Amino acid sequence: MKKLCKIKKVEFDSLHKKIYKEIKKPKFYCKKCLRVAKHAKYLCSAQNFK
Ligand SMILES: [Zn+2]
Repeated sequence: MKKLCKIKKVEFDSLHKKIYKEIKKPKFYCKKCLRVAKHAKYLCSAQNFK
């Protein structure tokens, strides 16, 4: 899967199951886009929750 930051609205329907898994218990957030994810690799500027 590509970075959550890069996913567009039109792509959401086909990816939503994977996206839900990734954002359910997030450990990182993106400093740029304010998106959250379980793995840093899905964010363009990942930052640990402190
Ligand atoms: Zn981002």
